[in-house]
Amino acid sequence: MEADVASSGSFGQTLRAAWAHAARLVLDIALPTLCIACREPVAGVGVCAACWAKLSFIAPPFCPRLGIPFVYDPGPGLLSMEAIADPPAYARARAAVRYDDVARTLVHALKYHDRTDLAPAMGRWMARAGEELLGEADVLVPVPLHWRRGWSRRYNQSGALARAIEQQSGIPVARDVLRRIRPTQQQIGLSRSQRASNVQGAFKVSPEKAHEIQGRRVVLVDDVLTSGATSDACARALLRARAAQVDVLVFARVVDTHKAPI
Ligand SMILES: [Zn+2]
Repeated sequence: MEADVASSGSFGQTLRAAWAHAARLVLDIALPTLCIACREPVAGVGVCAACWAKLSFIAPPFCPRLGIPFVYDPGPGLLSMEAIADPPAYARARAAVRYDDVARTLVHALKYHDRTDLAPAMGRWMARAGEELLGEADVLVPVPLHWRRGWSRRYNQSGALARAIEQQSGIPVARDVLRRIRPTQQQIGLSRSQRASNVQGAFKVSPEKAHEIQGRRVVLVDDVLTSGATSDACARALLRARAAQVDVLVFARVVDTHKAPI
């Protein structure tokens, strides 16, 4: 737009552009900020008190391996049954919140409604939840979309979250390192074993970008962790390409409340 104005040399156009810019500035100041979940006016930036109260931030005690919250503290270093019975390829997973109503609203808004303005706040919460992982990390890798899905959504929500965490932590995002080499079904509605076979072999590290993760400690970034099958498939691909370690940081994780904590 600025280039248009400059090249046209029309004083009228320049004036109109300047006026539009000024009007936008006034609007930015005059409009109250809205809660990123329910769109009610809110003081500052983020979620309103009601939505904040409904978000379930994950705090200790949790499984040091999978990040699954424990109902009671089993003592330092004790793993969940899931981590012992079916250890994933990744070293550790952490999530900012449980995947429930408000979390789902935020994830869907980011994913399907182009609400990229949500990414900085979600990334901030993720950076806090993943402090331990980020403290040891060399590089962030977002879970890639298949290009067709990426095209229809226009951008990758995991990429947006990874960029927000990059800004928070200073740890760089390795772009286009991990690729989805075959289309996968939506994981929603699939059983645990179907999820695993759906994503098995679906990811590959791009050979010309492999040096960006070789010998490095990677934090894989995604929006939601359900069974962990996608994260596990990505971690396998990264480790095969000789990443030193892979941890997983997500915005929200599904927590099966019916299972005993340990
Ligand atoms: Zn709200």
